[in-house]
Parts: sequence; structure tokens; C-alpha cells
Amino acid sequence: MPLKKSEIKNLLESNDDKLFQSADEIREKYKGNCVHIRGLIEFTNICRCNCFYCGLRRDNKELERYRLSEEEILNCVQRAVNAGYKTVVLQGGEDMFFDSGKLCSLIKKIKKYDIAVTLSIGERSYDEYKDFKTAGADRYLLRIETTDKNLYAKLHPNMSFDNRIKCLYNLKKLGYETGTGIIAGLKGQSIDSIAEDILFFKELNADMVGIGPFIAHPNTPLAGDIKDNFDLSLRTMAITRLMLPDINIPATTAMETIRLNGRLIALNSGANVVMINMTTAPYRKKYEIYPNKSCINDSPEHCVNCIKSKIESIGRKVSNSKGSRYEN
Ligand code: SAH
Repeated sequence: MPLKKSEIKNLLESNDDKLFQSADEIREKYKGNCVHIRGLIEFTNICRCNCFYCGLRRDNKELERYRLSEEEILNCVQRAVNAGYKTVVLQGGEDMFFDSGKLCSLIKKIKKYDIAVTLSIGERSYDEYKDFKTAGADRYLLRIETTDKNLYAKLHPNMSFDNRIKCLYNLKKLGYETGTGIIAGLKGQSIDSIAEDILFFKELNADMVGIGPFIAHPNTPLAGDIKDNFDLSLRTMAITRLMLPDINIPATTAMETIRLNGRLIALNSGANVVMINMTTAPYRKKYEIYPNKSCINDSPEHCVNCIKSKIESIGRKVSNSKGSRYEN
């Protein structure tokens, strides 16, 4: 449903719950009843960036850093495969130790399991994105975070908004299923700019969009900016479903972190994907992009069982396909 900017702004500012019902109906019509589960592997928390909101930022000296070995990563992949998941997401900080050679070798090994591989490792060159694609990577997640250029510049020292946009279009051009998204509730972020963000998802023709509420991390410059951004993120997500009816939209971990059953609420408001953490102890605790992340003390096996029963409790089914945008 194409909405004008003024209509998007009205929906963002309204308190009407009909939005969530409409998004749920559109999800059912275009994506069906199944929920796709992605196995998330947080394989490094080392990062060259210094994003103001993120606990992994370079200047956070309190965080103990780690990097998984190839063997450890493949072990997590095996767990995801054993659980029946058909996609793994390799997510990490911008850790240049993982160069093209190492990542391509890893991707090729994972592809032997006949599952989809999603990368979420930040900004790289066109040639690197091309190498990963040739090695077998299928999808890529890179949130624009905000399309407000001034806000973007304030929050991302030494980074370039134009380059982030360029990366997203490069990924599209290379044939990745391309995911983007934003953090909702950043200080200085206006409703007007969130409406622009949603229009941007449409313009890019994003294949996946992840929306998470901002959660203040104590060891960042945004510490203390405590407010509840759940409703704002849920509304943004639901409107995105109206605008891009057939894309994949995750019920994000950040939503679950600030609201009991936040993921189920999201699944009932337009979302059709859940990312389940396959990272094992002692690393899981150290991937602290924001504090009190949900399921931080659980094992992957616990999460696998827990999410299946939760999904079924709302009358949905766990999918057994790779869950690409255009498959059904
Ligand atoms: N380095 C990768 C992965 C970043 S972590 C990349 O650049 O894509 C994944 C996402 O966590 C980020 O894109 C950001 O949107 C989100 N995030 C980081 N800090 C956050 C915070 N304090 N609150 C909510 N979301 C946050």
C-alpha cells in the first residue's frame, strides 16, 4: 500500500491500534502463517567504528573483546542446522581481521550445509561484497540507522552517510537480498525523519527491514537517555509492512529486551521472522550492543525450544524453508 509522507506521519503519531491489525492482515496475506527462524552467530565483538549508541564501539574499554575461531563458528552453524534452521546470520563488529579470504573460506564451508548465509558485518568495498557473493553469501543486513544526514553525522564519527547508502545500493546491485532498518527513538530523531526512513526502505526496495527501539548503553556517550521506545518501533515496523507487503520483517531482540513477549507482539503486528541467538557462553554476554539483552544467560538449545513453543502459542508455525523474500 503506497502511503504518502503525511499519511505515514499521521500513523506514527496516532494511538490507534488498528495499524497493528492491518499490518497483521497484510503479513498473513502476503507471507502466510509461517515464521522463519534465522540462527544468529555473533562471531566477533571487535569493531573499528565508534557509533554513539553502540556498546561495541571502539572507545568502550570496559568490554572484553572476543573473536570466534572458524571451528567455533562452524560449531554454532551445526547447532542451527541441528535445530532445523535454514539460514544463519553471521553478525559482528567491523573487524578487519576477518578479511575477504577468511570470510570466503568460511562462507564456502557453511554453504555445504545447503542453508542461506546472511552477513551483517558493516561497510566493506564493492569488491569484498562481490567476493562474499561469489563465495555463496545470499543476503546482507546493513541498517541505515537513520536517514537524517545531520543526525547520522553526529552519531557516527568518521563515517559517511553517503558511503552507507552506496554500500546498500552495491549490495542490491550484486544480487544480495538486502536488509536495512533503523533504530527508533534516538535522541534528536524526528517523526518526520522516521517517515523519510520508511520512504527510503521503499525507494531502495529493501528485501528485509529490521526496526529496533533505542536502548541506552551505560558505556556510551548516549548513556542515561532512558526512555521507552517500544511503541514507536512497533508502529514504524507495522507501517513498513503496509508499504512493503512482501518483504521479510524480523521481530527484533531489542523489542523483546524492553517488553515482555515483545517479539510475539511484533509477530502479531506485521513481523514474520525471528533471529535466534546461536552464540554460546562465554561469548554471548560479551556481544553487548545494548544492556540487558534478552536471553543473555540462555543456551542455544534452550532458545530453540523456547521460541518454537512461543510461536505455536500464537497459532503460527515454524517454517522449514530458507525463507527468501520471493519464495512463496
Ligand atoms: N557492525 C554491523 C552490526 C552492528 S550491530 C553493522 O554495522 O551492520 C546490529 C545493530 O544493532 C545495529 O545496526 C544497530 O541498529 C543496533 N544497535 C546498536 N546499538 C544499539 C542500541 N544501543 N539500541 C538499539 N539498537 C542498537
